[in-house]
Amino acid sequence: MTTPPGEPFLVEGLPDLWQSVGDAKHLFLGLDYDGTLAPFRTERLEAVPFPGTIEIIQQIRMVNKCVVAFISGRPVSEIIRLTGESEIPIAGSHGAEILIPGQELIVFTPTPDQIRILDAAEELARRENSPEQIERKVSSVALHTRGVPEETARRREQTIFKLWSELGVADDMECRYFQGGVELRIAALNKGKALKYLLGRQPARTFAVYLGDDETDEDAFREISPWGVGIKIAPGNPPTLARGRLRNCASVLAFLKTWLEVIMV
Ligand SMILES: [Mg+2]
Repeated sequence: MTTPPGEPFLVEGLPDLWQSVGDAKHLFLGLDYDGTLAPFRTERLEAVPFPGTIEIIQQIRMVNKCVVAFISGRPVSEIIRLTGESEIPIAGSHGAEILIPGQELIVFTPTPDQIRILDAAEELARRENSPEQIERKVSSVALHTRGVPEETARRREQTIFKLWSELGVADDMECRYFQGGVELRIAALNKGKALKYLLGRQPARTFAVYLGDDETDEDAFREISPWGVGIKIAPGNPPTLARGRLRNCASVLAFLKTWLEVIMV
């Protein structure tokens, strides 16, 4: 998407956004990865950032008054590998891992009961799915269905959702659908909590914006309201707590370019 010279790039639902960004003394920009910075790919390790996106983020992070951070369901190591960027805060695995540049990686430790449930969930998933579709993370197990024919994917997701829900209810675990799969994870960890942790490190009166495309980003949209606004990346009109909307990864690039222009003034 290109913006004609002289016309500001508008985010649907947020006509005053650029005014707020321009007026803010301190800024925080939280970015989801898949479906926000990187278009979906069948092979999840091939989901590379939309061309030009990382270059703009690297320029944004050089501006003193703005902190930019990644918040993803992927492990921190994958985010670093896919973006080549490790000089900004990264919350990975829905907040089970947090990397602050210059500090040791903070990793959440599940309880023995939670580990037992995650082991059992992984075992159940292996019965009906191939190993490359199952991903074990610090605080979760995910079944990925990208590339699986639609009907089979929905059936497998529903089957495992039911089995995992029965396993996890007693121990603060929850089962959630995401774009391209299902995940059983520790309920206390989510993108909203990760965002809150990162925002807690920012100066008072920071204006914050969070961009995400998925059901798991709704926790972050809920958390951000005292600080700023959420922007949902979606081609249609799904129900969301985000106040703004962008259509796709190309619009996110246009958004980031405008963000950089506004904060450089
Ligand atoms: Mg996403």
